[in-house]
Parts: sequence; structure tokens; C-alpha cells
Amino acid sequence: MLEVNNVTKYYGHNLAVDNLSFKVNDGEIFGLLGVNGAGKTTTFRMIIGLLEMNEGTIKLDGKNINYDNTNQIGFLTEERSLLTKLTVKEQAIMYGILKGMRKKDILKKLDYWLERFHIKEYKERKIKELSKGNQQKIQFITAIINDPKLLILDEPFTGLDPINVEEFVKVMKEFKEKGSIIIFSSHRMEHVEMFCDNLLILVKGKSVLQGSIKEIKKEYRKKNIHIIGNVNIEDLQKTKGVLEVEKNALEIIVKIASEEYIDNVFDVVKNGCDITKFMVEDPSLNEIFLNKVGEVYEN
Ligand code: ATP
Repeated sequence: MLEVNNVTKYYGHNLAVDNLSFKVNDGEIFGLLGVNGAGKTTTFRMIIGLLEMNEGTIKLDGKNINYDNTNQIGFLTEERSLLTKLTVKEQAIMYGILKGMRKKDILKKLDYWLERFHIKEYKERKIKELSKGNQQKIQFITAIINDPKLLILDEPFTGLDPINVEEFVKVMKEFKEKGSIIIFSSHRMEHVEMFCDNLLILVKGKSVLQGSIKEIKKEYRKKNIHIIGNVNIEDLQKTKGVLEVEKNALEIIVKIASEEYIDNVFDVVKNGCDITKFMVEDPSLNEIFLNKVGEVYEN
């Protein structure tokens, strides 16, 4: 288990992470979300011991993170940290040795992952000769080459096409199955929604929302009603409990303050004609994220 307890980090007078606490269990994928500058990278760097915190503790399986357990960690940084003049093989050997692996084992793992990511022909090529997406795959391979217990992925999907995003997600799920702790950040909420167990939203270094996606959606009382048909939009806008009405090429989306107002909207819709859809849905994670971040900035 990874435990981050009351961690605070200042850069000079700038408070980057403010009394942050969260836990991630073995076999869990945890999403750390936030707008630019929210403090995600700073948090990751403190977890892997690259940055000292001002206050708080971070423990992996009950132990502080130091040279004794850094071999159990894999880290994909947001700013790409490949040595582009090296070949793929040289880079992998360097990372593997830093993680305490034997050369023979590194090469075995490297061959396996290059094959999995369909890039085995690049093994002897210089990294600078690879496309951005393929460099990203190498960066991912170096992060997982040591079969990490704790895998930290800072924006892992940058520059990847949808097929390769799927492939990365598959590998992340395999590590989850094996009991690894996975923390990742992404600005793409649909990725987070797809496979995260729990998440935390950071705003200005502070946690503003934390929990399982299911619970977060349940507790977030606002709902969206999707309607296809001929309905008077003005009547909908005037209905009690309606916050906003949007109309796109396909449907009308009525945002309501909570479930208790569904009947009010239905009363208006039943007076319309050609109604082929009336569906109540939870808002997307993207909508919740924007709302939560917006609330903090407004206060
Ligand atoms: P992004 O999504 O843009 O990568 P982030 O959530 O990773 O952002 P951080 O990079 O952790 O955010 O930055 C958090 C805060 O700390 C920001 O206000 C940033 O300006 C500040 N900061 C980050 N690194 C440094 C540094 N080396 N020196 C001074 N301030 C820093």
C-alpha cells in the first residue's frame, strides 16, 4: 500500500502541495487529476524521493521511500527523460541497472516488451530516430522493465494513437492484476473514467474531491436528461430544478439540480411531440471535474 500523509511542499514561498493525504491499495489504479500547475508532478517527485517535502510522510508498504525500496518503483515522467543519443537497448540497460537488475534479465524483458508493442526492429536504433509515439513506448518500457510494485505514470498517453492507448491500458491492467500500485495523471477524463478505481482532484495543491468514481457520481447530485423530440425549450428552461438546457444536432440535454426534478421535466416533455428518447444520466467525469475546479476558482 502507498500512504501519503499530510504532505506539504513549498517552492520558496509558493505553496505547491497543501496538506495532501491519500492511500492507494495493492492492485489499485488511482487517478491524480488537476489542471496545469495543480501539483501533480510535484507530488509524484516527492513519492519517488526526487524532491524533499516540507511536511508529512510517504510510505510504501509501511516503509519510507529511500534507496532500499526505489528498485520497486517505476516512473514515467511527463517531461520526457530519454537519452536520445543512446540506442533503445543501451537506454534499457542503463535504466535496468539503475533498478538493480542483471543485464541478462533486462534484455529478456526488453525483448518481451518490444515484441508486445510491435517495435522489436528498433532495438538497435538510436532513440532520436524514433517517432514521438514510439519514444513514448520506450519510456513506458523503461518504467516497467523492473516489474515495479509501485508504478507512477505522469501523462502516459501523450502522443499515442488510440490503438496504442488501448495497448498501454492493457499492460496497466495486467500490472494491476499482479498487485501493483498504479498512480497516473491525465488531462483526458475519458481515460480516467475507463479504468481508474479511485481518484483525487487537486486544485492549487489541495484535494477538492476524492473517492471512487461510482461514489463520486452518486454523491454529485446533478443529473442530465437527454431528450429527442419536439419540446418547447423555453418551457424547459422555466421548469423548477432545471439549471441549463443545451441543444445540439442530435438531442436536447437538460441539466437538473437533482433527481427530484425529473418528474417536473417529464411533465413538460409529455406535452411535446415525436418524443423518441427521455433518458436520465449521470454527468460525465469531465463535467464533474470542470464543476469542482470551477467552484474553487470562484471562491
Ligand atoms: P502540469 O499539469 O502543468 O504538469 P502539475 O499539476 O504537474 O502541472 P506542478 O508541476 O507540480 O503541477 O506545479 C505545481 C506548482 O509548483 C506550480 O505553481 C508550479 O509553478 C510550481 N513549481 C513546479 N516546479 C517548480 C520549481 N522547480 N520551482 C518553483 N516552482 C515550481
